[in-house]
Amino acid sequence: MAKIIDGKKVSASLREKIREKTALMAVKPGLAVVIVGDDPASHVYVRNKKRGCEEVGFNSWVYELPESTTQDELLALIDRLNADDDVHGILVQLPLPKHIDESIVTERIVPDKDVDAFNSVNAGRIFKGGAVLLPCTPAGIMELLKYYDIEVRGRRCVVIGRSNIVGKPMAMLLLAADGTVTVCHSRTRELASITKEADILVAAVGKAGFVTADMVKDGAVVIDVGMNRDENGKLCGDVDFASVEPKCSYITPVPGGVGPMTITMLLRNTLAAAKYIIQNDKTEVEK
Ligand code: NAP
Repeated sequence: MAKIIDGKKVSASLREKIREKTALMAVKPGLAVVIVGDDPASHVYVRNKKRGCEEVGFNSWVYELPESTTQDELLALIDRLNADDDVHGILVQLPLPKHIDESIVTERIVPDKDVDAFNSVNAGRIFKGGAVLLPCTPAGIMELLKYYDIEVRGRRCVVIGRSNIVGKPMAMLLLAADGTVTVCHSRTRELASITKEADILVAAVGKAGFVTADMVKDGAVVIDVGMNRDENGKLCGDVDFASVEPKCSYITPVPGGVGPMTITMLLRNTLAAAKYIIQNDKTEVEK
């Protein structure tokens, strides 16, 4: 029987620490969230981010722009937020309407305020080491491993998925923690023979029930990043939990595993950005 990794519990404990640290700061960290258009799911995410900010004592501002907003208007807002001393973190909720180039927009955020860590400078810093801002979902997974004392050093880590927001940065963080890392993707041959070697298996594919028991080594740690809907519309991960769980030492459920960590890591990034911008202090992430 696997031990279930409780993302809600870890997230609550980290938020409490962020709240305590924030209370000691002379200047409150401030997060600006920009949303363009009416996508209902995006509005739910933005509301949760604002609620998270209130919970830990940050300032937050939500800019709700109409679907008709031009790219230039959005870039002008980002320029204003880049120059605003009260704002330490800027997040543009994705996806953006089709007439706006997401890459141009995310690159426009100054790297020190890029709390999603999506722009090239922060991606490069993850590659080289010494980053202050880490991509939220992979950083949340590293915190889960740390909380449960799961050793990464020297262990065989396999990541399924190579997206810029999950798979690739996940591989870099595991490598930085001295894991021996393999990244698999849709062109990988004999996937199961590779995943079966993993001590730590991270699934970030986006396909319900993709990881089955025959792909998992006995005693492995299985981290399920997937957020999919099953045939009944119920939220489910990339891992076939019922068959995989009995084989693992640890496993993250969906919901309640990786998901609750993502906004918490956004809050930690905002605190880290504020500490760095205000007092040139990089310790929030280095610790
Ligand atoms: P993505 O950009 O669609 O990437 C999916 C990756 O899976 C790609 O690299 C793809 O390979 C690979 N893949 C697809 N089919 C495969 C196969 N048959 N065998 C091996 N690899 C395969 O997705 P993403 O943004 O990384 O997200 C992945 C999942 O995580 C989604 O369900 C998403 O909703 C979820 N997610 C959750 C959170 C959270 O907070 N919990 C945050 C972000 C994402 P190619 O590169 O070759 O196409």
